[in-house]
Amino acid sequence: MTESLVKEVFAKKGHDICQKCILMDGPFGVSINTNGLCNFCEDPTFETPTWKKTIISNSLRIEKREEWRNLVKYWKKEFGTERHCCVLGFSGGKDSTALLDTFVNEYHLKPFLVTVNVGFMTNVAKNNIKQALSKMGLEDDHIFIEDSFQTFTKLYKYFLSEFKPKSDEKCVSLSICHTCTDLIHTALVKEAMKRDLNYVVVGFSPDQIARYFYETFPKDTLEDGLPHPKAHIDNLDEDDLRWYLSSDTPLEKIPRVLYPYHVIDYDQSEIIQRIESKALIEIGKGDPVLTNCHVVMTGMMYDLYRFGGVSYSFQYAELVRQHEDPENWKQERKSWLRTMVRVAKGLLNGQLSKEGINMVLDRIGKSRQELISSIQQQVDQDPNKEQILRNIGLLRKGRLK
Ligand SMILES: [Zn+2]
Repeated sequence: MTESLVKEVFAKKGHDICQKCILMDGPFGVSINTNGLCNFCEDPTFETPTWKKTIISNSLRIEKREEWRNLVKYWKKEFGTERHCCVLGFSGGKDSTALLDTFVNEYHLKPFLVTVNVGFMTNVAKNNIKQALSKMGLEDDHIFIEDSFQTFTKLYKYFLSEFKPKSDEKCVSLSICHTCTDLIHTALVKEAMKRDLNYVVVGFSPDQIARYFYETFPKDTLEDGLPHPKAHIDNLDEDDLRWYLSSDTPLEKIPRVLYPYHVIDYDQSEIIQRIESKALIEIGKGDPVLTNCHVVMTGMMYDLYRFGGVSYSFQYAELVRQHEDPENWKQERKSWLRTMVRVAKGLLNGQLSKEGINMVLDRIGKSRQELISSIQQQVDQDPNKEQILRNIGLLRKGRLK
């Protein structure tokens, strides 16, 4: 048998997607074994640069919850209701708004609020934030950070133009998301340092634990706060560097960064109900399966053309695996598979998140066609070229077995 025939036979017998979750054979370092299972379903400890499953033990969660409760007690005693006890990252979204409500109405504490606008916040969104704060009487306890616009633009431009990931590297959407989050958190940290506050609190949801659980230690906060990635440092000038930390920052000056939702009760429907009933924000009927970050959506489009897969499918796959009841599992798998195909089709035909993606491309001065052809050049050099193109074709047709 010639090699191409062998390949064809294997392709007929083998599965395109995991028979337990929905991960595809090929992209992001995942493959399907002869039993039809992906590496993650076969071995929960498996990891790739793009994804690893973080399991937090119950005892650690309980220990950290106690630590949080003690900290709240300490703040109440030391700072009361009038002095700022910490910096709270306030995006205006449901999670940080509910956390602010918890601080004010349950803990009776006053955080200093910082909103970092990476450059996509509409005036409507800004006004909503101002309105929510005026309702709580916190207008004077809040700032918008917006001067960092250019520094964020450079970061996005780097990842979408210069980065050029190899097949075994972290995908673009996740690389952008992590580095951008580092820069946002660094802005919060620097604001806290300026105000002599020893704590920064961020409303990460319980499933945002890929990198840190409950706390980022000063050593890591410093590292995340230095200009990176390495290849991007030359793109930065003095004006950009003021948004980063410098390597000689003493660790004892760096505030503790905490994620309380990792340890306290987090009930999404309760959160939505609570902030809607207080009319703090209006929750739109957004698509819950997608991020509303335009840059991450652009990164997902990049990843799809570059690797032949949907980078969000790791999240979908986790949700599928959670179901033990066979009937539920079957339904969930079907529905998440449909979602993955819908996302892929929408990104490939340019209809999904069209406006947001165009905004990002405008900002970095690239057309959609320019971006796609530069990705195609990378695919041409990739040893997995055939499989990447085959997977894109499968997603386009939506026929995955
Ligand atoms: Zn699987």
